[in-house]
Amino acid sequence: MQHFPVYIAVAGRRVAVSGGGAAAVAKVRLLLKTDARIAVFAADAAPEILAWADEARIDLVTRTIQAGDAAGAALVYAANEDAVEDARIAAIARAEGALVNIVDDLDGSDFLTPAIVDRNPVTVAIGTEGAAPVLARRIKADLEAVLPQGLGVLARIGKAFRSSAEALPQGSRRRDFWADYYFEDGPRALAEAGEAGIGDSLANLLARHLAEAPRPGRVDFVGAGPGDPDLLTLKARRALDRADVVIHDRLVAPEILELARREATIVLTGKEGFGPSVAQAEINALIVDHAGRGAHVVRLKSGDPTVFGRLDEEIEAVEAAGIAWSIVPGITAASAAVASAGQSLTRRGRNSELRLLTGHDVKGFADHDWAALARPGAVAAIYMAKRGARFLQGRLLMHGALPQTPVTVVENASRPDEQILGAHLGTLSDDIARAGLSGPAVLLYGLAPRSAAAALDTLSQKEFAL
Ligand code: SAH
Repeated sequence: MQHFPVYIAVAGRRVAVSGGGAAAVAKVRLLLKTDARIAVFAADAAPEILAWADEARIDLVTRTIQAGDAAGAALVYAANEDAVEDARIAAIARAEGALVNIVDDLDGSDFLTPAIVDRNPVTVAIGTEGAAPVLARRIKADLEAVLPQGLGVLARIGKAFRSSAEALPQGSRRRDFWADYYFEDGPRALAEAGEAGIGDSLANLLARHLAEAPRPGRVDFVGAGPGDPDLLTLKARRALDRADVVIHDRLVAPEILELARREATIVLTGKEGFGPSVAQAEINALIVDHAGRGAHVVRLKSGDPTVFGRLDEEIEAVEAAGIAWSIVPGITAASAAVASAGQSLTRRGRNSELRLLTGHDVKGFADHDWAALARPGAVAAIYMAKRGARFLQGRLLMHGALPQTPVTVVENASRPDEQILGAHLGTLSDDIARAGLSGPAVLLYGLAPRSAAAALDTLSQKEFAL
């Protein structure tokens, strides 16, 4: 981010606009939504500006800005659409301690004016750092359509009710009250009885919530998918929206944690896949502790929580504590990896069976039914296999697997830094070492990336022909 979005207090403060043309009119029109004291400096002002001055909504000074004019101003807009004049004004403003925006000059400005969706006091500011005004306008249009016009009214009245709502304990009970107000009772009261009906509705709603027994805590074991936030399920998004506490593994992508409710406590367990059992006991205790105190806990696991996630151990701990739980499945790394390789995990006539294997388990490199895997056409997705690749390769070759058996290695599947490596069993560990993979990777044993697969098919046909 080159620019940090913040809101600047302007109520009662001076904001100066230099210029009398279209650019100045556009900025003044926005500023009129605020409680700032607006001063426009223009020798020659457009009719809109003259009208606003007549209505005493702005002060119009019919000359250009001079030294001293920006003293005490919070913001100064240089909107003369004349680079030399705007630079002169920017210098004066800066010297007098104001932040400057030169219209349509990103580099010359101290701040940018975003596209604004206005449901005062709720406002959405959209900025693209000048990269894509078209995109900003499109997002604004979408939000304008989604956010009800009454939202501002609800927020204004809600704000005045905040101290009354403190009768509810802080945390999920108070949040549930506000959620009901903004999304259920408030809009209904506004539609049925107008603004005047909202006060009664709020009082009734509060009485109802005060009478309710506190909700018990719960745990959702949620699949965060392989990394791309678009691969989250709607259910996972909703759970993240509501969570009081999110307990996640190191593999969960930061973009996904961004989607958690802002007030949620985010806890990193620091565990990647399989780890020592002490750590697991601590994680279990952490989950049970939060949920036991009434929190809605989202236990966020990369991929699908039911695949190599030690899910059972956590469920047992939660169940033993008498806490309600559910599982929200996710897209497992193998699914994302095979999609990127353009292949299918199963295929008629090739493999009617698919194995999900781990390269190592708590005891070290994991043993498997090597003979079955060595058969032609066998397909397996091997998790946590980078370190155990040499062991795996040795075992499979020893049991008769062909050295030319294809293996696709997909690192960081579905993430921007994804890498797909077409390898062969005979050289697998060297291929992996040479690629220098540092992210999580899954091996698709028995599958070549789609383009290489075509070449390989021709090759094996030739071999058969010989
Ligand atoms: N529950 C997870 C697996 C956890 S075990 C799932 O369903 O995907 C951790 C292993 O998953 C990693 O060692 C790696 O083999 C694999 N993995 C997780 N995310 C991955 C990704 N984005 N790309 C490739 N492999 C990934």
